Amino acid sequence: MFVGHYSVAFACRTERNGIPLWVLFIAVQFLDYIWATLVLLGIEKLRVIKGFTAGSMLDSYFHPYSHSLVTAVIWSVVAASIYKAVCSRHGCLYTKSAPLIIGIAVFSHWILDLIAHPRDLAIYDNTWKVGFGLWNYRDPEFALEIALLASGIVLYLTRNTTPTIRKGVVIGFGLLLVIVQIGDTYVPRTPLTDKATVMGVWVFYTLFVLMAFAVEKIGARTKRHTS
Ligand SMILES: [Zn+2]
Repeated sequence: MFVGHYSVAFACRTERNGIPLWVLFIAVQFLDYIWATLVLLGIEKLRVIKGFTAGSMLDSYFHPYSHSLVTAVIWSVVAASIYKAVCSRHGCLYTKSAPLIIGIAVFSHWILDLIAHPRDLAIYDNTWKVGFGLWNYRDPEFALEIALLASGIVLYLTRNTTPTIRKGVVIGFGLLLVIVQIGDTYVPRTPLTDKATVMGVWVFYTLFVLMAFAVEKIGARTKRHTS
C-alpha cells in the first residue's frame, strides 16, 4: 500500500479535531518512517527484487519492530502520546479525542498494509506472518489505492469548509498522488538497493508532508481578510 494510506489522513482531518493535514500525513506513514530508519541503520532487513509481487518489488523479510501487529499498536500509543505532549507544551488547541485519532491514523497503516502485503507482517516479533497479498494482483491493488484516496479526498472536501482555490489545489494534490502511484505500480524500473529505496521513502514521504502543509496555507490569508 502506498498512496492509499493518505486516504486516512484526508478522512481524519476535520475542523472539530483541529489536527492539521500535514500531521496526519506523518501519522499514517509513521510505521514506514520507523521502518525506513531501521533499514538504514541495518536493524530491519529488506530485499528489492524485480517482480517479487506484481505490484511491488519489496521483500520485507525482516521488519518486526516497525511492522508487527504488537509493535504497530505500541507505536500508535507512542504517537498519540507524543501528539498530546507536544500540543500541551505548545498550548495549541486540540480536542480530547485528537490523540486517539492520531493513534487510529497510525494503526490504520498496519490494516492497509495487511491487505496489500504478501505474508510478511508478523503478529509479534518475526513470527506468525500474515498478509492478504493484494500486491499479487496489480490492477486490483492499484484500483484500491486510487478508490481509497478519492474517498478520503471527497470526505475532506465535504467535512471542511475550504476556500474554492484550496479545493482546486487539494484535487490537484490528489491527482499528483495518483500520478506517483501510476509511476510506482506501472513504470518499469531497475531495482535500487535497499538503502537507496528507503532513502527514497524518507524523501518522498517528507515531500508529501510539506505539500500537505502548503495546501492548507492556501487561501488562509484571504479567509482572515474577509472574516
Ligand atoms: Zn508499511
